[in-house]
Amino acid sequence: MGGVGNGEMWRQPYTQTASMNTNMMTDFRGQRTNNPDLNETCCAYNLAKLTKDLNCFDPDDARYMDYYERVMYNQLVGSVHPEEYGVCYQYAVGLNATKPFGSPTPQETCCGGTGAENHVKYQEATYFANENTLYVGLYLPTEARWGDVSIKQECEWPAEHSRLTFSGGDFALKLRVPYWAVSGFDVRLNGKSIAKKYQPCSYVEIPQRQWSADDVVEVIMPFCKHIFYAPDKMDQALVDGKTQPYASQWVGTLMYGPMVMTSPDIHTWEEASVSLSPALDELTETGKAPYTLAIDGKQFLPDYYVTREHTTHYLRLNIPSGSAKKAASGNLDLTVLKEKLQMARERKATDWAPHGFKRLQEKIAEAEELIAKTQDKNNRTLVQEDIDYMASSLNVAIISMRPGNLAEPEDLTELTALIEQVRQNGASTPQKREALNYARMVVRYVNDGSGTKDMITKAIEGLKK
Ligand SMILES: [Zn+2]
Repeated sequence: MGGVGNGEMWRQPYTQTASMNTNMMTDFRGQRTNNPDLNETCCAYNLAKLTKDLNCFDPDDARYMDYYERVMYNQLVGSVHPEEYGVCYQYAVGLNATKPFGSPTPQETCCGGTGAENHVKYQEATYFANENTLYVGLYLPTEARWGDVSIKQECEWPAEHSRLTFSGGDFALKLRVPYWAVSGFDVRLNGKSIAKKYQPCSYVEIPQRQWSADDVVEVIMPFCKHIFYAPDKMDQALVDGKTQPYASQWVGTLMYGPMVMTSPDIHTWEEASVSLSPALDELTETGKAPYTLAIDGKQFLPDYYVTREHTTHYLRLNIPSGSAKKAASGNLDLTVLKEKLQMARERKATDWAPHGFKRLQEKIAEAEELIAKTQDKNNRTLVQEDIDYMASSLNVAIISMRPGNLAEPEDLTELTALIEQVRQNGASTPQKREALNYARMVVRYVNDGSGTKDMITKAIEGLKK
């Protein structure tokens, strides 16, 4: 959706599905409950701000404003209550989640402040310019002044069609072709298309020219249905306070143009398992409200329509591809395994913490051995499940790796032994008790993925004093 963070922390990379599905809260009775509250509003606010600044350095890289657009449509706009003063602290994503709107003014979190500020900032990120080029980064109804030039953009919101006019000026115009605009995109200058083909996630240029107040630029961008996959497969989920295993499956969110579609009719992972054809033809417009889709009687709405309802953003997806047909004809399908192996081989020892990297090398060797076995004509004992299981365990090895400077659970051996020793001898002084509490916190943080090696060293020193 564009947001980040889980419990005010960045967790391991490429583990968004695992993070979302196993996110829980322990109440004061020790009861574990699902807590799909992720994506703090302040983080989205700051990432939007950072993206705008990065775009100033390299305005030709359309990934920046593609990202800005995604976080704007799918988190920032929906984080404010449409009828009363209320802003979300963390945002509800995942299965059967509700938006946790904060209390009315004064808000109890930082997000009350940034959350109110967000919605006057989109205009600032709409246009960028250097000496003789004007970039249109976002399609929003806006008016702006650039030196002597008045810029006017007229469109609905969300926009599938936008109209730009200028009071005059001599400049080149660059318009963003969004990453999702894979068919039907067009830019017309005074009614004439300026190109035959457009590359999604790029800028298309109208070369420098003298503009007159009568010139009209139209951007036509029909919303396309597509899937945005999470980087990791779903292997487990927290259900009623317990982690349950699930058959490993890719999960993704259904998107309509720039918008994440969310369903109020899905409450369990079983209901969230959806089979679709690659063209997503089963999804049809409901005609009830703009941009609402339905499949099998389940409704999907843009996330910002949702206020208090429980909705589900991610689906377990079964979308057959050409390679699945091959498997059906009796051959083993190695596509996913080979993709994972490729990803695993690209990881360099210098970038990753050593224990996780070692586990990955062992899995790479196992996977290579298995692939070699599939080439052996005499070996007919392998079944598709063996291949899928190998791909899943390679995936687990990939997503449980930590960046090079982060501590790993294996780095805790000395500290946990010391904690046990101090505990057995009795923490007799307030200093010892404080050192013990700090050490336990460090163990928690390291297991969580946010503890550092400095923290372990400091905890060991504290306990040895
Ligand atoms: Zn905040």
